Amino acid sequence: MAEIQLNSLAHSYSRHPAGSEDYAIRRMSHTWHKGGAYALLGPSGCGKSTMLNIISGLLEPSEGDVLFDNVKVNELSPKDRNIAQVFQFPVVYDSMTVYDNLAFPLKNADMPKAKIKAKVEEIAAILELEAVLHKKAKGLTADEKQKVSMGRGLVRDDVSAILFDEPLTVIDPQLKWRLRRKLKQIHEQFNITMVYVTHDQLEASTFADKIAVMYDGQIVQFGTPRELFESPNHTFVGFFIGSPGMNLIEVEPTEGGVRFDGIDVPLSEHLMEAIRADQSGNIKLGIRPEFVHLTGHAADDTYPCEVRDIEDLGTYKIVTLQLGGQTLKARVDEDQEVTSESVHVGFPRQWLKLYVDEFLVDERGAKEQAE
Ligand code: ADP
Ligand code: MG
Repeated sequence: MAEIQLNSLAHSYSRHPAGSEDYAIRRMSHTWHKGGAYALLGPSGCGKSTMLNIISGLLEPSEGDVLFDNVKVNELSPKDRNIAQVFQFPVVYDSMTVYDNLAFPLKNADMPKAKIKAKVEEIAAILELEAVLHKKAKGLTADEKQKVSMGRGLVRDDVSAILFDEPLTVIDPQLKWRLRRKLKQIHEQFNITMVYVTHDQLEASTFADKIAVMYDGQIVQFGTPRELFESPNHTFVGFFIGSPGMNLIEVEPTEGGVRFDGIDVPLSEHLMEAIRADQSGNIKLGIRPEFVHLTGHAADDTYPCEVRDIEDLGTYKIVTLQLGGQTLKARVDEDQEVTSESVHVGFPRQWLKLYVDEFLVDERGAKEQAE
């Protein structure tokens, strides 16, 4: 098991990259600590597989270094890096039995026969493959084949890390849920560094202790599911995590705050200093639907707005509001009455976030940077 460090990493598939748009990974540094259960979360095409393949050694980065426990491994082959990688689609030897498929990585590592048997049986039990253990892989269903593929990644507990690249894509939804639980269980049991790639936030937060959110070739935030929810470091994290995502409003600076559609929102002096220092024209306010305050009564810090739609989702409601030219979403409890066509909306100071050039400015006025 190893700590995996990516130093000033960048990758372009083009031989002569013209600009940043030619890079699948834009220059970034990141550390995956030893023994963690991590998710790498982002939309299709943001560079997740590229990053995984650079870690495993299938791909050589155009710039920067990959270090395992502080030792540079750029020149090492995937085999010498001692990494197990599980891909989106099954990689199995059709002519071998399930048993031999699972035993293969252990035989290669010269493990004694009795130990191999014990380990194969242990993993087969966890993945519920006992019934097909002595069948040829060829006759298996797609689900079973992918379980064998995962098993081949999981049998060795001496690896530096196990990398999963959207491994449950071909698995049916119910089994998906069970396998995710099992992966978590295996992680708890063996404590191996695991990086699990997905574009599904639910999958990421059920598996991982910490999630790296990737956007446009860079990790824009690395945090617990709660941190990503409560304090998105980048507007993309706000928008991508949560359902619905964060409300984001383009605003202009004024003397003591910001303004949109003639509506003034006061901000602290620290935040105003940050806006003035940055001189960017790209300023946004962000607030999650869960934190938008809806009330029937006007107060000093509320704004009158129109109710456009109420969607009843059982234990909660999603209310669509019109405030000036903006459409906002609010998530309220099922028992909160929202009947009138006009209500007052408030933005609790603690949950109202300021973004300059898409990055969060914290209360001290400092612009956050991804790790
Ligand atoms: P993800 O796994 O997040 O969907 P990828 O790492 O596969 O993203 O791709 C990142 C970007 O690099 C995309 O724009 C994709 O089109 C491009 N890309 C991926 N693989 C190759 C390749 N072999 N050759 C050229 N471009 C590639
Ligand atoms: Mg991919």
